[in-house]
Amino acid sequence: MNTNFLANRHIGINDKDIQEMLKKIGVSSVDELIEKTIPENILLKEPLNLPPAMSEYEYSNHIVELAKKNKIYKTYIGQGWYNTITPAVIQRNVFENPVWYTSYTPYQGEVSQGRLEALMNFQTAISDLTGLPLANCSLLDEATAGAEAMTMMYNLRSRGKKKAKANVLFVDNSVFPETKAVIKTRGIPQGMEIVHGDYKTFEFTDQIFGAIVQYPNNEGSVEDYRVFVEKAHANETLVAVAADILSLALLTPPGEWGADIAFGSSQRLGIPMFYGGPSAGYFATRAEYKRNIPGRIIGWSKDAYGKLCYRMALQTREQHIKRERATSNICTAQALLATMSGFYAVYHGAEGIKEIANRIHQHAITVSEGVKVLGYEQLNEYFFDTLYIKLPSCISLEQFREVALKKEINFRYHDTGEVGISIDETTTDADVQSILCVFGSVAEQELTVKKEEKGCALPKELIRKSDFLTHEVFKKYHTETEMMRYIKRLDRQDISLAHSMISLGSCTMKLNAAAEVIPMTRPEFMGIHPLAPKYQAAGSLEMIENLGNLLQVITGFDGISLQPNSGAAGEYAGLRTIRAYLESIKQGHRSKVIIPASAHGTNPASAVQAGYDIVLVDSDEGGNVCMDDFRKKVEENKDDLAALMITYPSTHGIFEKDIVEICDLIHKAGGQVYMDGANMNAQVGLTNPGYIGADVCHLNLHKTFAIPHGGGGPGVGPICCAKHLVPFLPGHAYLGDNTNEVSSAPYGSVGVMPVTYGYIRMMGEAGLKRATQAAIINANYLAACFNDTYGVVYRGFKGFVGHEMILECRKIHEETGISENDIAKRLMDFGYHAPTLSFPVYGTLMIEPTESESKAELDNFVEVMDTIWKEIHEVKEGKYTLEDNVLVNSPHPEYEMVSDEWNHKYSRAKACYPIESVRNNKFWINVARIDNTLGDRTLLTTRYETFED
Ligand SMILES: *Cc1c(COP(=O)(O)O)cnc(C)c1O
Repeated sequence: MNTNFLANRHIGINDKDIQEMLKKIGVSSVDELIEKTIPENILLKEPLNLPPAMSEYEYSNHIVELAKKNKIYKTYIGQGWYNTITPAVIQRNVFENPVWYTSYTPYQGEVSQGRLEALMNFQTAISDLTGLPLANCSLLDEATAGAEAMTMMYNLRSRGKKKAKANVLFVDNSVFPETKAVIKTRGIPQGMEIVHGDYKTFEFTDQIFGAIVQYPNNEGSVEDYRVFVEKAHANETLVAVAADILSLALLTPPGEWGADIAFGSSQRLGIPMFYGGPSAGYFATRAEYKRNIPGRIIGWSKDAYGKLCYRMALQTREQHIKRERATSNICTAQALLATMSGFYAVYHGAEGIKEIANRIHQHAITVSEGVKVLGYEQLNEYFFDTLYIKLPSCISLEQFREVALKKEINFRYHDTGEVGISIDETTTDADVQSILCVFGSVAEQELTVKKEEKGCALPKELIRKSDFLTHEVFKKYHTETEMMRYIKRLDRQDISLAHSMISLGSCTMKLNAAAEVIPMTRPEFMGIHPLAPKYQAAGSLEMIENLGNLLQVITGFDGISLQPNSGAAGEYAGLRTIRAYLESIKQGHRSKVIIPASAHGTNPASAVQAGYDIVLVDSDEGGNVCMDDFRKKVEENKDDLAALMITYPSTHGIFEKDIVEICDLIHKAGGQVYMDGANMNAQVGLTNPGYIGADVCHLNLHKTFAIPHGGGGPGVGPICCAKHLVPFLPGHAYLGDNTNEVSSAPYGSVGVMPVTYGYIRMMGEAGLKRATQAAIINANYLAACFNDTYGVVYRGFKGFVGHEMILECRKIHEETGISENDIAKRLMDFGYHAPTLSFPVYGTLMIEPTESESKAELDNFVEVMDTIWKEIHEVKEGKYTLEDNVLVNSPHPEYEMVSDEWNHKYSRAKACYPIESVRNNKFWINVARIDNTLGDRTLLTTRYETFED
């Protein structure tokens, strides 16, 4: 084995393992297995044309070389991104800690208490700062949060009769341009109209359902919206406010002057700019809108013995359950970044954050006064951190920009000719002096600033008086030792890939190799503003270009957009691209999207957001698209058919053999084929969407392409497409044309892209292909091992599964009363995170081992599942009752295991150390099974709240 190559470390099984596993599976070679799994007519005939694999060492040098091509200038552009200081204790113990970055979305609350608490801290901080009681635990970015606000207000318009048909959204002129652009992309296909204007003079009509303003606004001015909000409410119109989260430490929060929604970016709370992302969008609203708020919410609940604990609340609102009636299509959000911002609030506390905000404000005042002395006009009467400066007529913007660039300083240059300056957490006295030097040198004057407290440039009526971050969690951890231990205390409560296999069907929890993630923290990648002049981002742009090319080769397509920040955002972007294409060929009337019944909930939710009606197609007995029903639906809808959304291999883990015919039928009916690429881990190197005949697909780089899952984000959901769709991919002002913009940043979350780039460069064609084969071998090995116990629900045309399988648990439930949920919870006693529960088939578990797991780990998992099988049979045979057995009582918390009382018919050892291997690697859980109904009935979403007894 060549010890230098990632494939040999990334793939869990070696040749000897493979031979043994193939025997168990019942085939004689890997090729035979693949030929019996994937239809022959879609197998690639030639290897993918990718560059040769780099060793870990070579990649490390290569990525540093790229990073060094970025030039980090002093940047005061603002417009939604600001330099920050990520506290080193958070960078090292959270961002660089696999327990935090490799964990899964906290659906299994009992093994996720640490990240649930961290996200609860985030929600509490957002709620406090905005003055609104209900915050979610992140959205994708500021602009999409704005679009979610629009949709929520639109869905709420029929509260009063007056507005039942209203379809116009008012957006103030001074909202960030990227927010306006994304709102336009989202609103129009759903039948909304958007009007821009000046909030001061705007007249409400019955057509207006909602309004969006920015605080402080696009130019940096702090406006007083109180009269406007009153007018809006008198008109039964809701108001959403895009607010700079840090400014709210000094400014009266939107919730206190009547706003119904506050949204924005929490990047300022300690997250690097990363040339655009990732960082967490935030969203807060009134408690009465708890069923309408988009995204995930963390809430309190109690466990089976009454102990307080956290869980994800109100999941029934989400797309998994509600599908086309969901409040939004959000699935993956920005959990890791929200976690970090929550810790930033914990580490600094109210005093620290006020100090930071005030320091920024004082510097801004110094600059404002300085430029005035130098003869410039600073147009913002009231401001927090951002100045809006008019140049004297004798100075051109070009001239000014040239001087600034010579001094390696970026300002914002407004289209209307003004210079914008946003001061941030990193700005020093010396920086203030250099800023004034630029203005002085252009004006041919000199000015030295004196250091003194300058007072206040906020309107008196809008100075914040209320307290925030008053919970003790924001007061206790201000030293590094305490903070480090707090983070550790939380991470000990969570199962992540650092502990054991997380075999989440459809979510591909594979290795996130250290060599891939280390380059994320290069300062040259972290410190660059997404709107910085392109030549300063040469290294990032080269990486983006290379990565785009590699992903096009892998998918067999001709174009790519890296803008979407999640798979669901990719689905939306793909459908928007299809819509724009159809409009261009005068087929814009096509309004229907066919979706198989087994599809992931984001598919129908995204289709609705893209303005489409859904036609469902049944599955046949084998779990495949029912071809008769499919042909019928295509024929019935052929005049209106816009697209098919199909996951391949299917969400049942099967390579349907009719996929080529399915694509052909759609094309013959004038539709486009959208392939949901969440299961690309079964395709890479063996087949691809382009070769199969699709027109566009998204990829989940946080599944197949090694970006860590982050406990529910960051995600990257690029879309790749065929030539005819390329002109209609999402644009951005930075790229010269902002039509169809779907995210705040031109290239989405560039900060995590070195991971995928490294994965592909280090695996190479052969490594990627081997990984796909290994994923299929591992899944089929498990399927063979479970064949005589649980059994597998669906198999492909020759009896094999793809890269995942659905484990039958419904019969067990019928026969014994033990449910798939009991099995999921019992796995925790063995130190395992549950597989995917009841998706896509209710009452089952879906297991995806991925290629990264070793045979030893798979064998251990099989031993565990076999032990659970025996435990189920002990109940069936009456050895234990259905009311008192190790399954229904699981997980067994530590506090119960060590208590003096023990009230079960089985022994402590049976509960706690059911097999030998657990003794050496016990994962101690400290909450018993969580009560889901209680947590939804009494929704409590901040640290201050508790249940009334
Ligand atoms: C994960 C997944 C999605 C959604 O992707 P996100 O990145 O979570 O938005 C869509 N479809 C399928 C089949 C998936 O597994």
